[in-house]
Amino acid sequence: MRIAVLKELAAGETRVAATPETVKKFIGLGAEVAVESGAGEAASIADADYGAAGASVGSRADALKGANIILAIQGPDPKGLKGFADGAWLAAGLNPFGERARVDDYAKLGLEALAMEFMPRITRAQSMDILSSQANLAGYKAVLMAANAYGRAFPMMMTAAGTVSAAKAFVMGVGVAGLQAIATARRLGAQVSATDVRAATKEQILSLGAKPIFVETVAGIEGEGAGGYATEMSDEYKAAQAELVSSHIAKQDIVITTALIPGRPAPRLISDAQLATMRAGSVIVDMAAESGGNVEGAVAGEAKRIHGVTVIGAQNIAALMPADTSALFSRNLFNFLSAFWDKEAGKPVLDEEIGNAVRLTQGGKVVNERLLG
Ligand code: NAD
Repeated sequence: MRIAVLKELAAGETRVAATPETVKKFIGLGAEVAVESGAGEAASIADADYGAAGASVGSRADALKGANIILAIQGPDPKGLKGFADGAWLAAGLNPFGERARVDDYAKLGLEALAMEFMPRITRAQSMDILSSQANLAGYKAVLMAANAYGRAFPMMMTAAGTVSAAKAFVMGVGVAGLQAIATARRLGAQVSATDVRAATKEQILSLGAKPIFVETVAGIEGEGAGGYATEMSDEYKAAQAELVSSHIAKQDIVITTALIPGRPAPRLISDAQLATMRAGSVIVDMAAESGGNVEGAVAGEAKRIHGVTVIGAQNIAALMPADTSALFSRNLFNFLSAFWDKEAGKPVLDEEIGNAVRLTQGGKVVNERLLG
């Protein structure tokens, strides 16, 4: 069983899908690991560190030669994939909806493409979930980005020259990233409020010492929602939410938006007119900018000044902390593959529940029902 670890070639991608720690663990399972030279460089892992962990280090062609499993952070360009074993697995964040054409190419290459972001939200898969591990750190970093762009302080500060008042921060969308954003903004001393469409988040917001701001006139999603995910809300709910946001947002200094709906554009939560009511110098970080944006005018990868408000369109925040995010991503991949490792076969064998959820292609065809349906 040969595992190849690719160097990421996408612009701005700094992470790597295996660390010396996970290389050692794979070798412990009886696998051979081949790392593309320079794969860990941007995450502060030298080729020599992989070598010391027992991996071979070489060109992309060397790494791919005879590989049974290919590990990557993002889906690699199909054109550069050659020389791997028949039916090899490609396990990565494949962005199946956004990179649909690539999925067809992976099928044509005979790869079994496994999209790690399709990991089901079940208890036993928690340690394999790249969305959670990356969103957690991204939620933290989004608040630091906001603090950095904000021309004022977060905590209340009493100085000899007078008092600086605490920033008011509002987190919209309280999933994994939102919870971490609340906790981080609180640690920095902001007064924090938060909202979501899922009723279960109210208690979580309170438990972090923040104030829940919820639509009370129209029912939201009871409990967690199917698979922990939100769905698109009714027009009536959207109207009530817009009214609530309008009255709250004008008093906020910092807003972090994280709302996503799988397979659909991100819901629009802040309009241009609402932005215009905010105090000049306020900062918004739109963590959903790459999925269409929660904030009107937000552009992924750009910081724009709109009506005096700095609107930061987040793009791959996880890549700003590559040492930690790579370590967690790599463990997610190891936890996934090792959980299914069949000692006798010397390779992983997926079960139906997780296999059918993550497998996009098999036997030259696209097989995932979320892509076919
Ligand atoms: P997500 O990234 O899909 O969305 C972020 C948040 O935005 C969610 O809380 C969602 O409810 C919210 N949202 C969507 N539309 C909205 C709107 N119109 N207005 C306001 N908020 C809106 O979510 P996530 O961070 O991946 O997590 C969602 C839930 O799933 C959490 O409760 C999390 O703990 C759970 N989860 C469980 C597992 C597991 O058990 N293995 C793994 C990951 C997440």
